[in-house]
Amino acid sequence: MATIFTHSLIGLAVGKIFGTSNLVISKKRFWIFSFVCPALPDTDSLGLLYLGIPYEHIFGHRGFTHSIFFSVFLGLLVVFLFFRKENLNKLNSFLLIMYFTLITTTHSILDALTNGGLGIAFFSPFDNSRHFFPYRPLEVSPLSIDKFFKERGLDILSNELIWVLIPALIFIFIKIVIKKMIVKYKANTKDHSKRINYNEDVSRHQFYGRDKN
Ligand SMILES: [Zn+2]
Repeated sequence: MATIFTHSLIGLAVGKIFGTSNLVISKKRFWIFSFVCPALPDTDSLGLLYLGIPYEHIFGHRGFTHSIFFSVFLGLLVVFLFFRKENLNKLNSFLLIMYFTLITTTHSILDALTNGGLGIAFFSPFDNSRHFFPYRPLEVSPLSIDKFFKERGLDILSNELIWVLIPALIFIFIKIVIKKMIVKYKANTKDHSKRINYNEDVSRHQFYGRDKN
């Protein structure tokens, strides 16, 4: 896995980049689930650490909970259980489900970019074979927190900072700049059309005024 912090931060970053919180009224709930959903696939490591479920098992680490099927299921579940009272229209409900599905899937995408462990069962429960991307620049993080802090914690965090967190911040920055440019453009267009209307009013007034004389 990539570290749990990185998975959750990517959820928040995707929410910021797409501006999905605008779909809902309960912003606090939206951000809590944006933080929690991308971390949930790694609950399977509890099975590996405490229940003895083998890594390569369908419910082993990077198995079913890392699949696209699980992400869609979680997206549906979160919206149905926690945003149902918002009375969202069909389109907004669909977009919100897609959003929670996407941020959960970012977990598996990041894991498939790591350089250790078994691959990801993207297509579980239909096909339990494991997959990695051909290019894997991310350092794999140990499952145990103890090992993480004692061994390579800092190396892993700096690796993720370079490959994941800084690019995410750059995307957020680009989004903010584009948004500001659009607001400025709209304000200028509005101002321009106001000026045109004003000039038209003035010339109409002058024309009719002269006519009366
Ligand atoms: Zn994982």
